[in-house]
Amino acid sequence: MKTIGLIGGMSWRSTLEYYRIINELVGERLGGYHSAKIILHSVDFDEILRFQGDWKRLGEMLAEIAKRLEFCGADLILICTNTMHKVADYVQEAIDVPLLNIIDVTAEEIKKAGLEVVGILGTKFTMEDEFYREGLRRYGIKALIPDEEDRKTVHRIIFEELCFGVFKESSKEKLKGIVERLRKDGAEGVVLACTELPLILSQEEFEIPLFDTTRIHAEYAVSFALKG
Ligand code: GLU
Repeated sequence: MKTIGLIGGMSWRSTLEYYRIINELVGERLGGYHSAKIILHSVDFDEILRFQGDWKRLGEMLAEIAKRLEFCGADLILICTNTMHKVADYVQEAIDVPLLNIIDVTAEEIKKAGLEVVGILGTKFTMEDEFYREGLRRYGIKALIPDEEDRKTVHRIIFEELCFGVFKESSKEKLKGIVERLRKDGAEGVVLACTELPLILSQEEFEIPLFDTTRIHAEYAVSFALKG
């Protein structure tokens, strides 16, 4: 089994999910007492948030962490957040092992589902900056984003509630309304493009397909780790 390197802590609540899902999947696939080989570098999220906007600096910080994980024996590295994939290319250039890009693996799943137009919900950087939509476009997928008011709402719920483990019924309803508006705009599916969003939204409550980026990312990591 290969060793998975996680750059986590953004926030730690979603990193917990990565840790749990990866271990559960390895246990399911190999049986018995098997669990995943993981090296986790968990950051102080405050230090990251302070520099969101100064992407060069954040790229350098994550590249440094990735190098350390590689040095410690990671065969594959994951950045456990969608937003920070803004600096993914920079991080990949700094290491010799693969960086498993969350946008690529999500696009693969959207393609598998046969969809071409999806809505994306995430932080304002993920929804508004080009990197995420461009990443999906490379796979022939068109990404729709909510209107400005709805984007503000999603961003606020992520940072003021989900990152603190606060799950309000009223926020869930607001998010459901935003998903519905994306559907009306033409989205055939919706990407939960923030690793905290699956903590409050789950497929069972929706008819439209949701793409849980935390789970998808973790599943591809496990497939890589158990290959060959
Ligand atoms: N975990 C979130 C994401 O997937 C947001 C945290 C961040 O700003 O990195 O984008």
